[in-house]
Amino acid sequence: MTRLTLTPSDVNAIYCVGRNYAAHAAELGNPVSKSPLIFTKSRTCIVPFAGELSIPTALGRCDHELEIAVRLGSPLTAAAPAACLAGISHVGLALDLTLREAQSALKAKGHPWDLAKSFAGACPLSELLPAAGFDLTDLDLTLTINGEVRQSGHCRQMLFSIGDFLSFLSHRIPLVPGDLILTGTPAGVGPLAEGDVLVGMLCGVALAEGVVRR
Ligand code: ZN
Repeated sequence: MTRLTLTPSDVNAIYCVGRNYAAHAAELGNPVSKSPLIFTKSRTCIVPFAGELSIPTALGRCDHELEIAVRLGSPLTAAAPAACLAGISHVGLALDLTLREAQSALKAKGHPWDLAKSFAGACPLSELLPAAGFDLTDLDLTLTINGEVRQSGHCRQMLFSIGDFLSFLSHRIPLVPGDLILTGTPAGVGPLAEGDVLVGMLCGVALAEGVVRR
């Protein structure tokens, strides 16, 4: 299978779904959303999910959130869920790195989360695999840190399936080829520390590996 490596200039926009796994919403004390919670990350924070992962030294706790990432190969406007799934060209793994203390302060003020989500290096992204090789309703992901499983989930645990939230999004924002969507994180998020070795698995394939440097 041909793998695709995306740099920031290959990506149009990054859309993220927050609180898309009930157990993760609960671990942060958040209510389960009735409609998808959408936010963005800057494409300029994409870095390879490989080798050294640089995280900020002076911005407080930096949490890992492993997520299934999908890339669109077709435009989607007001599209039905099945058409949205058919519009996905590639699938991989991303870390939605989050400055948790900064995010909590922003949430308390009712402000957007950008300052907690788009710092330099905030979106390690694995190589992507062609979506044609996957059943997009049967994807699982696992993150190990220093050999211990810290996050694992299956897309059937999502509150809004990939087809459903893409359809929701496509009715509100025109989606184009090159858009990248981070589909939410399962429970088990937590702070990263210097020297942590991360391995991300998608459907049993070790797609990403990195070591944390501050
Ligand atoms: Zn996330």
